[in-house]
Amino acid sequence: MLHETRSRIPLPFAALLLLVASSACAARQEATAKPEPAAAHWSYSGDTGPDHWGTLDEAYFAAAKGVAQSPIDIVTGAAIEAQAPALVFTAASVPLTIVNNGHTIEVDCAAGNSVQFGSQTYALKQFHFHSPSEHTLDGRNAALEMHMVHKMADGHAAVVGVLIQEGATNAAFDAIWQHLPATPGPEVTVPGVTIDPTSLLPADRGYYFYDGSLTTPPCTEGIRWFVLKTPIQMSSGQIAAFRKAYYGNNRPVQPHHARIVLRTP
Ligand SMILES: [Zn+2]
Repeated sequence: MLHETRSRIPLPFAALLLLVASSACAARQEATAKPEPAAAHWSYSGDTGPDHWGTLDEAYFAAAKGVAQSPIDIVTGAAIEAQAPALVFTAASVPLTIVNNGHTIEVDCAAGNSVQFGSQTYALKQFHFHSPSEHTLDGRNAALEMHMVHKMADGHAAVVGVLIQEGATNAAFDAIWQHLPATPGPEVTVPGVTIDPTSLLPADRGYYFYDGSLTTPPCTEGIRWFVLKTPIQMSSGQIAAFRKAYYGNNRPVQPHHARIVLRTP
């Protein structure tokens, strides 16, 4: 009970907006950085693994020098409750366009889906998966994690992370899982198949919020992270199907440095 009281520090919404504004500035600076001709190869193990990302390519400097890197371990009892706006998702059915890009399996989304956070609207660009999860809750990984990558028109990005635990079969993933490309290759649009990405989300969209980065090179900072508090489930068979393509495509958790994690009530 004491613990609970301590974590309920009232935080004015203005402070949250200030946090958001500072992360937005970082993203704008990244967006205007000079483009690199060809990015260096990276992986999840050995000489090109996460410990080496920061030195593989000048463009990956944030992986080594950044102070707001993702993913992180979320200590749920230490997250500060804030009266933050709800995430409001706009649903739309889009063609299933899927690719195994050598690092993950990614579904690229035609225009239509978006998420609204306060006065800001972000369009869903793609979603992809990591196994095991990249974010941990109180030190524990989930079986998988889905990242829904959203962008505003000016390039600012927000990622919604959804933890996936082993449990009941999740029929919402059937259309995607029936077309998982087992090996890297070109993107494919599956004829006659449409998906509604919002159908993959848990009913409760309460979240943990913090200021972080891309979790893959170039590990660009200035990304707003919303990790949903409620996990979804998948059967062991569904988890195994993804792991046939990828297991261990998760960057280890990064230092918090001076960051705080907010949470919705
Ligand atoms: Zn990701």
